[in-house]
Amino acid sequence: MPLRLQNIRKKYGKFELAIDEHTFMDKSYNVVLGPSGSGKTTTLRIIAGLEFPDSGRILLDDEDITDLPPFKRNIGLVFQNYALYPHLTAYENIAVPLKIKKMSKEEIDKRIKRVAEILGIAGELEKYPSQLSGGQQQRVAIARALVKEPRILLLDEPLSNLDARIRIEVRGFLKELQRELEMTVIHVTHDQEEAMSIADNIVLLNAGKIVQSGSPFEIYRKPKDIFVFNFIGYSNLLPAKLLGINNADSVGFRPEDARLSNNEGILKGKVKRLQYLGSYKLIEIEIDEGRLVLVRVKPDEDWKEGDIVHIDVPISSLILFKDGVATQG
Ligand code: ADP
Ligand code: MG
Repeated sequence: MPLRLQNIRKKYGKFELAIDEHTFMDKSYNVVLGPSGSGKTTTLRIIAGLEFPDSGRILLDDEDITDLPPFKRNIGLVFQNYALYPHLTAYENIAVPLKIKKMSKEEIDKRIKRVAEILGIAGELEKYPSQLSGGQQQRVAIARALVKEPRILLLDEPLSNLDARIRIEVRGFLKELQRELEMTVIHVTHDQEEAMSIADNIVLLNAGKIVQSGSPFEIYRKPKDIFVFNFIGYSNLLPAKLLGINNADSVGFRPEDARLSNNEGILKGKVKRLQYLGSYKLIEIEIDEGRLVLVRVKPDEDWKEGDIVHIDVPISSLILFKDGVATQG
């Protein structure tokens, strides 16, 4: 189901969410990415019907759902803190939305067993939330959202309460689940690496506005402006005149696009610091006026602190900015 937002406005004091037009892709993994306070949760709550926009329309598969209450939208929502009832077992937690719908005991049981099987928690259904790991609690929360067979699944920072290793595992699991069930997922996060690794499509929000939308590759390789360029991945941003470029005011490039040598390059500097990261090295190089440039090299390249090096970057890897906005593509 494609979900369309049209001319959405929602004001909270100085903050205003303002989305002119966006379509979340059907049967795909959509990520809403942005810094804290950029309006991600507000966007999800408006889609779920927990908040109403001051103006604008929400269309689900061409049906106008703007004025529908949450329970009539059939959209599943999983909060950051899972919000499980502590005094109910996993089974009873998952049953809550079906009981509200006055479904028969048999149908409830059938649905819960099916969804628990899919999520790999069939053996945990009699346990209370306090007896489950963070990852299992999260699966119960997802099961509770999925058991209604929602048209869209909304996830608000679903991985932020898990520790680093489990986070990567659950990330893979969420993507698989989306593929298997051919669902439309909208996943909110402030973590650019998480967004890049899981999304089919990323919507980047800043201060209540969409700054760019596209595949992870497009966002990384063709950032629309300096905010996007700096927000995603490692970045180098320099005044254009340092590189002898006149038709822009600043120039960006990624650390992996630069090469180091002893004699040729567009920049020259001194190796300040090296970080060995197993499959690559990150080298900080001090150029003019104490500016630092980050270059990524193969682990066997043997540069040392204090070395004078030349940095070369192919012209095709340079991103030019004028008044903060990318000038090409
Ligand atoms: P994010 O999820 O990206 O961190 P939010 O959507 O939660 O951002 O919040 C965006 C802005 O709106 C923030 O400045 C926040 O303080 C404000 N805000 C969100 N919800 C409310 C509310 N119910 N009442 C007042 N201000 C709110
Ligand atoms: Mg939030």
